Amino acid sequence: MSDNRPTICLSFDFDAISIWVGPYAATSPGLISRGEFGAVGVERILALLERYAVPATFFIPGHTVETYPDHTRAIVAAGHEVGHHGYLHEKPGELSEVEERRVMERGLEAFETVAGVRPTGYRSPSWDNSTHTVDLLLEHGFRYESSLMADDFTPYWCRTGDRHQPDGPFHFGTPIDLVEMPVSWILDDFPHFEFLSVGAKVMPGLSAPSKVEEIWWDEFTFMTRYVPGGVMTITMHPQVIGRGHRMLMLESLIERFRENGAHFSRMDMAAEAFRSRDSANS
Ligand SMILES: [Zn+2]
Repeated sequence: MSDNRPTICLSFDFDAISIWVGPYAATSPGLISRGEFGAVGVERILALLERYAVPATFFIPGHTVETYPDHTRAIVAAGHEVGHHGYLHEKPGELSEVEERRVMERGLEAFETVAGVRPTGYRSPSWDNSTHTVDLLLEHGFRYESSLMADDFTPYWCRTGDRHQPDGPFHFGTPIDLVEMPVSWILDDFPHFEFLSVGAKVMPGLSAPSKVEEIWWDEFTFMTRYVPGGVMTITMHPQVIGRGHRMLMLESLIERFRENGAHFSRMDMAAEAFRSRDSANS
């Protein structure tokens, strides 16, 4: 656990229909069907992970857990981790503290009812934590979260009580007993691949997988060269990565990472490995 092998955490945000009927307020069957494809993607991803004996983490909104209970249970049964990802893909930054608490509890209830599990990891929808998020996570017994970007290949401790002011330096708050597993838009399939035109929002997406494979591979190469024992968290969405040509890219990367000494880990286990290495907060 505490060796210097590079660690890869494959994470899949199984948003399915929630992201379309939630943040995008979609009513059209066309948009909603894009979310439905997420279930097809999950089946392909589970088969790929099984073929290579690779463990992974799936962050699932409560709405998806309840809409696709069999898929959720299949993910758990295959030994993968499930993490909290809101209920209807709500951005915590746009919720009151009362609303955010309700969403957190609603999501936990969905996992308990459908799969009999309680997640220890959290990723905020759209990576948009509120100023209350980490305190709520501690209160609900979470061990790590994965929504911030203050480092790339090194987990770190979340803080509470950060303050910013227009006429002075940023004030860093106090580290708390919650591990951050940092993320990046570079290592997220959604902006690379997803074509989106909803209201005033247009995202071109539709990158060639060869371009994305080059970026992700070079991030890995940098990590192995300069950040010994680094952890690379890749974020994917079954409705995005599940398309055929992108699945071939993911398969190719799994093979290349493995051939170059990578260790694949669920995020909860990688967070615990960080805890055991860095006891500064325990
Ligand atoms: Zn999401």
